[in-house]
This record gives sequence, C-alpha cells and structure tokens, in this order.
Amino acid sequence: MRLALVTATANPHKVEEISAILGDAVELLPRPDEVGDVVEDADTLEGNARLKAVAICDATGQAAVADDTGLEVDALGGAPGVHSARYAGPDGDAAANLAKLLRELEGVPAAERTARFRTVALVRRPDGSEVVTHGVVEGLIIESARGTGGFGYDPVFVPVDGDGATFAEMGDDAKNAISHRGRAFRALRDALAD
Ligand code: IMP
Repeated sequence: MRLALVTATANPHKVEEISAILGDAVELLPRPDEVGDVVEDADTLEGNARLKAVAICDATGQAAVADDTGLEVDALGGAPGVHSARYAGPDGDAAANLAKLLRELEGVPAAERTARFRTVALVRRPDGSEVVTHGVVEGLIIESARGTGGFGYDPVFVPVDGDGATFAEMGDDAKNAISHRGRAFRALRDALAD
C-alpha cells in the first residue's frame, strides 16, 4: 500500500522536487488551503519542521511531512542558520538576504568562507511518532553572485562536491543529486521504507 503524506509546503516547485525523490512508494497530498500560515519561531531547524508538520497533522488527522533549511556560515558563527529566510528582515526578500550575506563577509578571505546548507525533513504521524532525517552539503560562499538558476543563496554557494559551479549555475538534477534537501529526502525515503 502506498504511504500517504500531507505536505506542509504549498510551494509547487518544492512539492514536485520532494515527490520525485520520495518516488512511487509515497503519495504526496496537497497542503489544505484552510490551514493558516505556521509561525516558525522555534530556535532550531528541527523545531520549525516539527511546528509545520504538527500543524498539518493536527488539522488533517493524517501523517504530514515538513522540512526546514538553513545556511550556516562559519565566519559568521553559523549565521544566518535558522534565520536564513529572514536574514535581512521580516519580508524574506531573497536579494536583500544575499546582499546582506556578502556585506557581512566583506574582507573575509576565500579559505575562511566555508559554509553548509542543512535540511531537516520530518514526518509526523497522528499517534505522535516521528521520522526525522538530515541532509548537509558543504561549500564556500564566493564574493559575487554567479548564475541564474535556483533560488535564495544559490548564486553565491559553490558546493565542494561539484566542479566549481555555484548551485545557480547547475541544472535542477545536478543540484538535487548533491543538495542538502536531496540528501535529507533520500534519507527520509530510505527510513520510511524500513
Ligand atoms: P526553507 O526552510 O526551505 O524555507 O528555507 C529557508 C531559507 O533558506 C530560504 O528562504 C532560502 O533563503 C534558504 N534556502 C533554502 N534552501 C535553499 C537552496 O536550496 N538554495 C538556496 N537557498 C536556500
């Protein structure tokens, strides 16, 4: 029998990406319109993923899947981390977030611009049980944006597992093969299959 999971994200691009990774064993059900926005005020990625999954699980009585991602920059003590979406302010403007990141790193030499994207993926079931997985991709923050693909901080992130291209210079498939979200959801697929 296929496992049904209600998604906490309403972003169609993300739903497509997650669905492709989870494959045929999982039927992804759309986020119900009547569930309001969840305030993501936990102080960890796992806490925020749980807030979103619990809200959807409670509203539907069905198992729900949520994820949360942060960019951790070593020279900034791990910032923006859990605050990545709203680094430059509450309206979540990606260009402003990216500009602030480059400003904060001005004068930091290339070798010290190490960073990682981290994703937590979490399934919450109505009985309160959970499956939690993590995905990480290590990389470097370059000094100016390159590439037009992807979103968020992609134009300044060069993964160490790649060929020197930023995430924004890669196709979706190449990015998903090594990305934080790809790794977290492949681990989730494997954990659900056990
Ligand atoms: P979310 O938890 O997936 O909404 O991600 C939080 C924030 O992290 C987003 O608003 C983006 O700024 C950033 N982010 C998440 N995933 C990516 C990615 O794959 N590339 C670049 N930025 C990302």
